[in-house]
Amino acid sequence: MHTKTLKQLSALLQTKQVSATELARHFLQRIDASDLNAFLHVDAGLTLAQAAAADARLARGDSTALTGIPIAHKDIFVTRDWRATAGSKMLENYISPFDATVVERFNSAGMVTLGKLNCDEFAMGSSNQNSHFGPVRNPWDKLAIPGGSSGGSAAAIAARLSPAATATDTGGSIRQPASLCGVTGIKPTYGRVSRFGMIAFASSLDQAGPIAQTAEDCALLLNAMAGFDPRDSTSLERADEDFTRDLQRDVRGLRIGVPREYFGEGLAPDVEQAVRAALAEYEKLGATLVDISLPKTALSIPVYYVIAPAEASSNLSRFDGVRYGHRAEHYGDLSDMYKRTRAEGFGEEVKLRILVGAYVLSHGYYDAYYLQAQKIRRLIAEDFKQAFTQCDVIMGPVSPTVAWDLGEKVDDPVANYLADIFTLSTSLAGLPGMSIPCGFGQGEKNSRRPVGLQLIGNYFEEAKLLNIAHQYQLATGWHQMQPLA
Ligand code: GLN
Repeated sequence: MHTKTLKQLSALLQTKQVSATELARHFLQRIDASDLNAFLHVDAGLTLAQAAAADARLARGDSTALTGIPIAHKDIFVTRDWRATAGSKMLENYISPFDATVVERFNSAGMVTLGKLNCDEFAMGSSNQNSHFGPVRNPWDKLAIPGGSSGGSAAAIAARLSPAATATDTGGSIRQPASLCGVTGIKPTYGRVSRFGMIAFASSLDQAGPIAQTAEDCALLLNAMAGFDPRDSTSLERADEDFTRDLQRDVRGLRIGVPREYFGEGLAPDVEQAVRAALAEYEKLGATLVDISLPKTALSIPVYYVIAPAEASSNLSRFDGVRYGHRAEHYGDLSDMYKRTRAEGFGEEVKLRILVGAYVLSHGYYDAYYLQAQKIRRLIAEDFKQAFTQCDVIMGPVSPTVAWDLGEKVDDPVANYLADIFTLSTSLAGLPGMSIPCGFGQGEKNSRRPVGLQLIGNYFEEAKLLNIAHQYQLATGWHQMQPLA
């Protein structure tokens, strides 16, 4: 049952070959037996109550394609019934008085929540090793990281602990863990999906999206997830779309832009080989490859690591021991209470980013760092604008290497930052991006670790990206491969 795609499970539910309750029990059992540390909070009673409601809806005949399908949410989305920790000690026991818009939308479609998924603290990281609740293991090799910050989401899909998961991407956190765990994920155009109830990291970059086994499943999930929300001031007012509408279109004549800068020094040979093989597959399907340049790619790292910490330093000021979560037990005056609370509640990486953020925003440095970064951010978006005059979609690797070992790069923030080189610029430009499984590499350890192909589209072209990804998945079997455990 767990090997089936969301689309297949939906058909079984609609024809009453399986009930929502049976599905929920099956996945809860798998979660219970798993040793990946992908889930932070599971409550079978709550899940089964939602499943019973879904079964009643299915019996009444007022169901949607998603009714009765289990889903798990990254623990960055607030939920009324489950804890919302953001992977932080600061919010260890926090329960929100409301559901995030994304959660609310899936609930009203009749989906069944399996629980909350582990992630890097406040979504800061690319290996899930910054979670206060311990790292998640990669189901393909339990000695490897799953990627981050949505490591729990990607690992849960890869290990078939859930057919669907939510995730968020600020600089790569949907695409990179999807790539390292061999599953499919899409980060929509900035503003497509409501940020209301998503615990904020860097508001001008944060964007939610789905992770699942296939592009087709992601399209079905995005149909429910996307849409205008008056409670999010950056939500886009656009007509609702059916993201499955173009899935069947063939890719003959498609012009694929291959950025030179994505295939240079630093790209591991095993990753390059898998990505080039995927490009060759697209040529077989009738697409043509166009050599393009995104000259500002290297600058995306310093730009992102100025802008994201700047926004984080402001967003995280709300965690003061008064309004949310943890408060130090022993303190002197009010200011001492703030200091101790934040010293105890935040982990190392979060503190580092708050310091960097406060520094680049401070008087005297603002012009040199923050303002400069904003200007270059604009030029990065111009790179893409120029590229899309020559091609319909851009493709390349998601991550320069396959998943690294647990314990590696823990004390080296810069090594982590460098691994984001191929995902940051898409986020800075606000463009939609995807990762689909396209093979395996060896890493250094001679184990089998997945490689993802990145697809970057122009603004609002999610339906096109999903179409292009689906056509590849019709022709290849990488997305169907599963880890042994
Ligand atoms: N790895 C990047 C960071 O650490 C991106 C994280 C994300 O997209 N949430 O900030």
